[in-house]
Amino acid sequence: MIKARIPLLNDRHTHISFYAALRAAADLSACTTLKSALAVLKKQKAPLVVARGWKNNCYDLPREELDKLGPVAVCNVSLHSFRMNAAARKKLAARYPEIVAGIDDQAWVERNLDRIFELFTVSGGAGAIPGYMAGLAAQGVWAAGDMLVSSDAAARALAGKYLGRVTLWTEPECYGKLGAVSRAALHGIKLFTDGALGARTAALAGSYKGGGKGVLLHSDAELGELILSAAALTGRVAIHAIGDAALEQAVSALEKTARKKKFEARIEHAQLITFDQARRAKKLGVTLCMQPNFSADSADYADRLPARYLRGNNPFRMLIDRAGFLPGLDLVFGSDGMPHGAKAALESALFPPYPGQRLTLGEFAAGYCLPDFKAGWLDVKIDPRKKTVGVKVRL
Ligand SMILES: [Zn+2]
Repeated sequence: MIKARIPLLNDRHTHISFYAALRAAADLSACTTLKSALAVLKKQKAPLVVARGWKNNCYDLPREELDKLGPVAVCNVSLHSFRMNAAARKKLAARYPEIVAGIDDQAWVERNLDRIFELFTVSGGAGAIPGYMAGLAAQGVWAAGDMLVSSDAAARALAGKYLGRVTLWTEPECYGKLGAVSRAALHGIKLFTDGALGARTAALAGSYKGGGKGVLLHSDAELGELILSAAALTGRVAIHAIGDAALEQAVSALEKTARKKKFEARIEHAQLITFDQARRAKKLGVTLCMQPNFSADSADYADRLPARYLRGNNPFRMLIDRAGFLPGLDLVFGSDGMPHGAKAALESALFPPYPGQRLTLGEFAAGYCLPDFKAGWLDVKIDPRKKTVGVKVRL
């Protein structure tokens, strides 16, 4: 048993406003079968049942089953796959005609995530944010980056009361909806290059088992232009790239745009980054924002990813030992809220499926924790034999 005291977490990549608003939604995250999910959905009583946490790697949600229920809209754990039944389509057709028409088209979904998130969170609103922030603190997360603030009310709620604790990012389309106060509080602009492994839309240079290579959302030229216009708004750009093909496009685009304009660049997730891409990103001064909890994808997505991708997912040892990334400097960590909390973060960092994914406690603290103990600390007990971490949060 190893005992240590480390500062509270700064979860660099999550979605506070989205998860706060979605908290009222039915939770399917404990369900691993269609039967159990339908049982949860049947119990809900709302004019439109919104559900989160669908584990689409465990079971499908066939339309003919969902159509037996009242209006229901479901979002999967990775927030990139959705289901909407006939009754929900009818109810939402007037207000959200484009979403109803596009929700089954995965390529459309990946390009319009911000709009879909708005639909899923419309009932929650910004009022749920203080409760959510308190819940995060109780789990050892004191500071966090909200990567997709999609409403002016949410941006104001976060920037007002949580100054210094939250870092706000948004997408170019949402930027236009924010007022002057929210814009001034914004840290940077987030762009997407591909989807997610959970929806088989992360863009691979190779192929998924059973076919398909995922989705690249932009042409090379489009991405270059998006980066330059985002950089002009805030001077900071964060680029979501999970598959090796998306990472190739992101790194190449940054190499080209860096010659034209000076700005700070971050790559989000970078799960299937190759050594060559890592070396080039390091040379450019790009920060990688990665999620130790996604190391588990190497076990969870063996159904869809060839062995070399399972082995190459979240290659922290390669990044630190060979490419020279330094936790806390140009390698920072977050959870994407899947799940939140210090215990899950520590266990996934210290005891991942593959040795190449392992972080030391020192590296974890440098890349994932606040710089000091002012807001509180975590007393941790690490049990290497059971591969568990006990966490006491001291606020
Ligand atoms: Zn995210």
